[in-house]
Amino acid sequence: MNDPLAAACEICGAVQVEGWTCESAFHQMLVWEFSDENGAGSVHHLSVLCYHLQHPQLYSPQGLRHALDLLVAFESGATPEHVREEARASLKERTWPIRGSVSAGFGTYAHPVHWTTHAPQVVAGGSAGYVDRVQAWSTSILTALRNAGEL
Ligand SMILES: [Zn+2]
Repeated sequence: MNDPLAAACEICGAVQVEGWTCESAFHQMLVWEFSDENGAGSVHHLSVLCYHLQHPQLYSPQGLRHALDLLVAFESGATPEHVREEARASLKERTWPIRGSVSAGFGTYAHPVHWTTHAPQVVAGGSAGYVDRVQAWSTSILTALRNAGEL
C-alpha cells in the first residue's frame, strides 16, 4: 500500500498530492513561470519566497529575516519592482549571505509553524488557476507565521 504520510516532507510537513513532492512541485512552478512570463510568471517572486519560507534552512538566519520582510511587503501590496528598487540600495551594503550553509548557519523559526497550504497542493490540478493558488499560498504563509508568533 502507498502510505501518503510516509512521503511527507520532513521540513514543512507536506504530504504528496497527485505524486508531487515539495521539490518536484517547486520545479514545476518554475517551468510554468518561465514559459508564461506574463501569466504564471507574474507570481514568480511569491512562489520562490513561499517555497523557501516553508523550508527555512535554505536561508541563512539573516536571509530568513530578509525573506520575512519581503513577504510582509508583498502582502501589503508592494510590487516586485518597488521591492527590487529598495533592495538594490541595501543589498549593496549587505555583508551576509542569503543562503543557508554551514558557515553562514541555517534559518529556523523560534516556534513551530502550522502551515495550511504546501507546494504540492499549489501545483496539483494543473496550470489553470495557478496564479490564484500562489497568491492564496502566500497569504496562508503570512497567516501561519503570524499565528505562530514569528511576525
Ligand atoms: Zn516541504
